[in-house]
Amino acid sequence: MRDYDVIVIGAGISGLLSALTLSKEGKRVLILEKEGYVGAVCRSYEVNGYRVDTGPHAITRLESGPLRELMKKYFDVVPKFIPFGTYYVRVDNRVKAFLWNIKDWLMFDLIPMKDRLLLMKSLFDTPYMLNTGKDLSTVSINDILPCDVSITTRRFLDWLSYFMVGTSMENAPISRFIDNKDHRPSSIHYVGRLYNPLITEGARDQGYPKGGLQSIVDSIMNSFPKNMIEIKTNEEVLKIQCNERIYGVVTREDSYDCNTIIYSGFASNLPNLIDNLPREYVKNLKSIRKVNSLTIWLGLTKRIFKNHGSEMWINSEPYAWVVPTSNYDPRLVPKGKTVGGFRVHIT
Ligand SMILES: Cc1cc2nc3c(=O)[nH]c(=O)nc-3n(C[C@H](O)[C@H](O)[C@H](O)COP(=O)(O)OP(=O)(O)OC[C@H]3O[C@@H](n4cnc5c(N)ncnc54)[C@H](O)[C@@H]3O)c2cc1C
Repeated sequence: MRDYDVIVIGAGISGLLSALTLSKEGKRVLILEKEGYVGAVCRSYEVNGYRVDTGPHAITRLESGPLRELMKKYFDVVPKFIPFGTYYVRVDNRVKAFLWNIKDWLMFDLIPMKDRLLLMKSLFDTPYMLNTGKDLSTVSINDILPCDVSITTRRFLDWLSYFMVGTSMENAPISRFIDNKDHRPSSIHYVGRLYNPLITEGARDQGYPKGGLQSIVDSIMNSFPKNMIEIKTNEEVLKIQCNERIYGVVTREDSYDCNTIIYSGFASNLPNLIDNLPREYVKNLKSIRKVNSLTIWLGLTKRIFKNHGSEMWINSEPYAWVVPTSNYDPRLVPKGKTVGGFRVHIT
């Protein structure tokens, strides 16, 4: 197969899903992957009979989110999911369930009471900003943070911003915290907007793929239609060729013609692949910071995690988000066996 409609750069979950959907819509797809394996961040491997995941642990919005829609429409083999468990926060080695609403926040005594009250006040001030026509997407968590809150509270909010929005509290707009989803209608507009933070009970439709993350990748690959997709690993795209329009890609081994290309690598690397992108656009792409994260498999000699789900660590070294591998239940580990897996996201 040489005559491709689409070239997908990267065989991570995005590239694989793009290839699946396009091929099922009748397109011939070539996937080029620079590494020697597919799945990228989203994979699993075995250690001493335990399956360890390399990346995601909670698959969100499983009831009706985008993955559910894609699975319904395009998967021949659908992975099975088990409930993800619960999120916990560990501050100075005290652990509490994650707070999803303002009531929880008031009871959340891992943060000093004074800070909790100050923050509540700031949060309740925001609807007034809305009423005066202020665009809350331009106001960050940092902007409304009282200056005398403790360092622990700052760290917590910074972590929360990364967790909820994927960026630091300087860049996390408060609109993402108070104006999400389908707030209830109310005669007073801003009360409706505050409805979610007041009553939400947390994400209930999160799951973990039975058999590890690998089972999602396997399901996608097993759903690929015959003769519509070719995957070449160990083949890095060095240049995306274009004049007025895209017309192909160049690798060390070969070159391929195609006028539709899907790039799923780091956005900040795109300017290295395409010449003559607008300067302002390049500047924006280059300013995107990468978050470092790693997977660690440790031989634990004692039980640390008592809960099923994830733990986020504040005031620990390194300042980190620690996630026990979700299909690993510490209660099931035979006595005396030294095993344990967790991921550390260093923010
Ligand atoms: C530790 C960790 C925990 C996470 N937890 C969650 C979670 O719980 N829930 C959740 O929903 N998400 C989570 N995520 C995010 C999620 O894993 C990623 O968003 C997703 O896996 C990214 O997939 P991707 O295909 O877009 O990119 P990647 O997985 O990065 O794949 C990109 C691929 O493109 C290839 N590539 C790049 N450049 C080239 C080139 N020039 N030529 C050829 N190939 C190229 C790379 O080698 C790579 O294989 C987590 C991520 C990490 C790292």
